[in-house]
Amino acid sequence: MKGFEYLQAELDDMKKAGTFRKLVPLQTAQGSKVTIDGREVIQLSSNNYLGLTSHPRLRQAAIDASRKFGAGTGSVRTIAGTLTMHEQLEKKLATFKRTEASLVFQSGFTTNQGVLSAILSAEDVVISDELNHASIIDGIRLTKAGRRVYKHVDMKSLETALKETGNYRTRLIVTDGVFSMDGNIAPLPEIVDLAEKYDALIMVDDAHASGVLGKNGRGTVNHFGLDGRVHIQVGTLSKGIGVLGGYVASTRTLIDYLIHKGRPFLFSTSHPPGVTMACMEAIDVLLEEPGLIERLWENTKFFKKGLITLGYNTGMSETPITPVFVGDEALAHGFSDKLMEYGVFAQGIAFPTVAKGSARVRTIVTAQHSKQELQQALDAFEKAGKDLGIIG
Ligand SMILES: *Cc1c(COP(=O)(O)O)cnc(C)c1O
Repeated sequence: MKGFEYLQAELDDMKKAGTFRKLVPLQTAQGSKVTIDGREVIQLSSNNYLGLTSHPRLRQAAIDASRKFGAGTGSVRTIAGTLTMHEQLEKKLATFKRTEASLVFQSGFTTNQGVLSAILSAEDVVISDELNHASIIDGIRLTKAGRRVYKHVDMKSLETALKETGNYRTRLIVTDGVFSMDGNIAPLPEIVDLAEKYDALIMVDDAHASGVLGKNGRGTVNHFGLDGRVHIQVGTLSKGIGVLGGYVASTRTLIDYLIHKGRPFLFSTSHPPGVTMACMEAIDVLLEEPGLIERLWENTKFFKKGLITLGYNTGMSETPITPVFVGDEALAHGFSDKLMEYGVFAQGIAFPTVAKGSARVRTIVTAQHSKQELQQALDAFEKAGKDLGIIG
C-alpha cells in the first residue's frame, strides 16, 4: 500500500545505523531463564524484580477471580466497571503506602498522563528532572502549565527553577524515584527540603522502586523516611508487583478530583478481575514474604560487584538496574547480540531512549536468579566484552 514511504525511509536509515531492532518473543513464561528461538537463556532484561509474574499465589488469585467474575468488566469505572474488588485493592494500596487514599489506572503510563493532565493548568508550573520517564514527559505535554526542566538530580538547578517560578499558583516538582535507565535514586530528602522551603508540591514516580525499596517495597518515600511529606506517589503494578497497572497514592481530595477529571480513568475500561485480584495478592506477598526483597538485594550486590570487577562502567547505579556503558549505539546492540550468543538476554539501549553517546546494555537482576545463573551471566559478560574490546 502506498503512503508510508517517508516512514520506511526513516526505518531504512535506522537499519543502516545498526539501530533497527526486532522484537524478541519469549516462548516460555517470564523468569530467571527464558526460551528465545528455541534456546534457554538467562533473562537480565525484565522488570520482574521479585519473580511475582509467576508466583503461585498470584497465579491462583488470577485463576480464582477469572472463574468467579469472568474475563473482563465491560465498562469504565465511572459507569458500571467498578467492582468491589477494585475499591478493595485501592484501600489496600493506600494502607500500604501510608496515604489517605489511592486510585488505580490501567498502567503506570496512563497514571502519569492522567494525573499531570488533570491537576495542572496555565496558572501552574511543573518542574521536571531532565531524565524523567517518557510517560511523565507526555503527561506534561498534555497540560497548558508552565514548564521548567532541571538538570538531572541537580539541586542547584532545581532551586533556580523554584526561585524563578514564584508567581505561579501551584508549583509541582516531579521526579522518578528510581531512574529507569541509570538505576540511581532521586535525592528525595533534598527535594523535600526545597519543596517545603519554596512551598511547592512533589510528585514521585516510583515505578522502579515499587516492591524494591522501602519497608516491604513501599518505595523511595518510605525508604528515606519521608512518609507524609510527599504529596503524590505514583506506583506501578506492572514491574516488581508482577501484574499490570498503575496507581496514585495521595490525599482523599486528590483522589476524588481524579475520579472526576483523570481522563484515562474516565474514558478507558477497568482492569479485569484476574488482574485486580493478582495485584491484591501481590501486596500480601510483599508483606508476608520479605525474604524475596532481601534476595533481590543480595543478588544485586553480587552481580554489580562482578561487573565492576570485570572492569565495566556501571555509572551511578545504586539499585537492581545496572547499566553497562559502552557509548556507541551500534556497539551497544552488537554487545547485546554477542551476550545472546553466550546465553544471556540483556537489551542494548540507545538513542532516543537515552542520550546520544551514552548507549548501554541494561541489566536487571531479580530475586529469582540463582547465584549460579548470575555467575554464568558474569562469565558471558567477560567473554563478550573481551571479544568486542570493551574490557581488556
Ligand atoms: C515503566 C515506567 C512507567 C510505566 O509503567 P507501566 O505500568 O509499565 O505502564 C512509568 N514510569 C516509570 C518511571 C517507569 O519506569
